[in-house]
Amino acid sequence: MTHEEKIKSIAEQIKVKAAAGKPLAFVKKSVPHVVPNSGRVEVNEKIYIGDLDQVIKIDAINKTCTAESGVTFYDLVKKTLSLGLVPFVVPELKGITIGGAVSGCSIEAMSYKYGGFHDSCLAYEVISANGEVLTCSREKDPELFNMIHGSYGTLALVTKLKFKLYPAKPFVKMTYKKFSDFDIFYKYLLERCERADYEFVDAIIHGTNSFVACLGNMVDTAPYTSNYEWINIFYKSTLTRDEDYIKTDQYFFRYDADCHWLAKALPLMETKLSRLFFGKIVLGSTNMIKWAKRLAGIFRKTKLRTEVVVDVFIPSKKFPDFWRWYARDFNFFPLWIVPYKMPQGMYPWVNPSHAKKAGENFIIDAAIYGKPNNDPKIDYSEMMEQKVYELGGVKTLISRNHYTKERFAEIYNLELYNRIKQKTDPRNLFGTIYERMVR
Ligand SMILES: Cc1cc2nc3c(=O)[nH]c(=O)nc-3n(C[C@H](O)[C@H](O)[C@H](O)COP(=O)(O)OP(=O)(O)OC[C@H]3O[C@@H](n4cnc5c(N)ncnc54)[C@H](O)[C@@H]3O)c2cc1C
Repeated sequence: MTHEEKIKSIAEQIKVKAAAGKPLAFVKKSVPHVVPNSGRVEVNEKIYIGDLDQVIKIDAINKTCTAESGVTFYDLVKKTLSLGLVPFVVPELKGITIGGAVSGCSIEAMSYKYGGFHDSCLAYEVISANGEVLTCSREKDPELFNMIHGSYGTLALVTKLKFKLYPAKPFVKMTYKKFSDFDIFYKYLLERCERADYEFVDAIIHGTNSFVACLGNMVDTAPYTSNYEWINIFYKSTLTRDEDYIKTDQYFFRYDADCHWLAKALPLMETKLSRLFFGKIVLGSTNMIKWAKRLAGIFRKTKLRTEVVVDVFIPSKKFPDFWRWYARDFNFFPLWIVPYKMPQGMYPWVNPSHAKKAGENFIIDAAIYGKPNNDPKIDYSEMMEQKVYELGGVKTLISRNHYTKERFAEIYNLELYNRIKQKTDPRNLFGTIYERMVR
């Protein structure tokens, strides 16, 4: 089927199902990367978009790519890397799609310089809830283009994206700088971002006295390479090594086998023997998400709440305050740190008054993956949400959200959101972002 035929068929499905006036939801081929909100009842009419999984064109001369929204970063990197190119931002989990990365704000270790995946995009094709096919870019309908980012599928279905590519080399040379003092570590990290002397900059905080800046540059040759796809665990290697070489595609998905460190929660899955025997069926983000879904019914009975799995964006100047609070009151490690510059300034979907409170567009993404949340007296997810708000930060909406309508409106630019919504989904078939993401 050509892209045009797929679009026609999806637009037709939307029109027919929309006529019933029931809420619509999309079903992709790959697994979703949002933590299910226990208690939320889905009663949506399903629109299957699994056929949108093709790379349409790679223009190696102008370094751009045009692809359908359901292409996973794993498949994308395989294709572009064979031509010596890679996306500017490659989220670490193999099954994240390019449409999902825009809708849900994906970032990575080049984000300190180039922003999130959305910032490397040039144009989107979307289908509205009226079944209309629209195109937008920074020049054509920039409000729609900017608001699609971070809208979690509530404004329109993204069907095709055009984005920039970056010249690649076959290996990544990693350098790990270790610190035991937060202030020295943080100063060093900010200095690396300012000097831009490495292509990739992120960090892992292993404990209150153990900070590792992970710095990478692509190189043409490697004296050896390490592999973190099965037996070896990437995040642990940063504690024991000062230097490493990883094949470029494996570097991008270095956290995938353990889904960062969520595999820690599975008995013995950090031992070599278990990984040897069960790794192929248990490890890898897609396997782990599928297992989590299958076992969700059992977990619901044994757990008060799901673990805290969330990325929070903290203004860089306030990050030391965040850290002191986190080390004392949250105290869950490893904590993944990704410096992130929003190249055009704070995104338009953030309420201007909240953006003013943040006061800058250079932020630190702190990714908390797997903090147990079973204390009947403290809901750590709610506590994190409150702290991020206080600091003028933004919490991604990928897991449990607790905002009142008033608080949500303080953070999100609902005036602009509603204006676009009127155009793309006047009957609210995709649900508002508040209805879909907050319970
Ligand atoms: C355990 C975990 C680890 C993560 N690790 C990382 C990481 O390392 N780096 C990173 O950058 N991010 C990470 N994320 C966040 C991730 O990037 C976002 O959740 C992203 O939106 C997932 O994309 P997806 O393709 O899986 O989309 P889904 O999870 O299926 O959907 C996410 C949202 O986007 C919407 N959506 C999806 N496709 C479309 C489309 N074509 N058009 C319109 N709306 C659409 C969906 O409706 C949904 O609201 C992680 C999330 C989790 C839960």
